[in-house]
Amino acid sequence: MSYFMWRPYVSVAARRRKAAAGMQKLRKKGHPVSPVVIEGREIASTFWGRAWCENLERYSDFANRLPRGRTYVRNGSVVDLQIAPGGVKAIVSGSEMYKVAVTVAGVPKRQWSSICCDCAGGIDSLVELLQGRFSKGVMERICRDRTGLFPAPAEIKFSCSCPDWAYMCKHVAAVLYGIGARLDDKPELLFKLRQVDEKDLIARAGAGVPLSKTGPAAEKVLGAEGLPEMFGIEMAESAAPPPARTRKKARAPRSKRRQCRK
Ligand SMILES: [Zn+2]
Repeated sequence: MSYFMWRPYVSVAARRRKAAAGMQKLRKKGHPVSPVVIEGREIASTFWGRAWCENLERYSDFANRLPRGRTYVRNGSVVDLQIAPGGVKAIVSGSEMYKVAVTVAGVPKRQWSSICCDCAGGIDSLVELLQGRFSKGVMERICRDRTGLFPAPAEIKFSCSCPDWAYMCKHVAAVLYGIGARLDDKPELLFKLRQVDEKDLIARAGAGVPLSKTGPAAEKVLGAEGLPEMFGIEMAESAAPPPARTRKKARAPRSKRRQCRK
């Protein structure tokens, strides 16, 4: 019981029941429903999901507001979340059912070319990419503040149908976390959201100077220990010298490497 709270306490079970009832209603109306389901304590546990959440948390513009969304998303209050190119639409169960819209700018062309160039030769397959299995150098490039693949605050706009959305209400915060949770299951949606083709990142050995490919991608960046130091988390495995074969493959003729420079 939360006798110390100044608002009437609504139990987690009650919130869940309410969310489930709301979802049922939407289904009956023929609305496609794709709820955010969080299992366990962590909102996201893969590279892509975690990197999304940590990207949001590192910006002071969002940091104060985001925590309000954590409980909400964990409670199953995000009863529907749909990611499309350039935007996310969601329905969040609160005192009522609220509609949340988040628009996310596409990655500017030049920035995307630069990411692809810097990562060239570092990711061998779509499977490796989507599983977050790549070197620390590639990971850092992808996660780079403002010029990586994750959006900066200025590239994110949002609205909610609740009366309190002016800056960032808990419904919007829950949806922003919900996107991270969704990327755990469907990391390809990040590329869709940011309107870039993930295949551009694959292989391209010889297209540019790759960022320290550290050998066959293996397990090194999967799981909770996978994020680089930029998020304050030590890598499980630091950059070992690349095997000779990989180093050779990653090296491009001088003329080709020049193509990647601006
Ligand atoms: Zn709201």
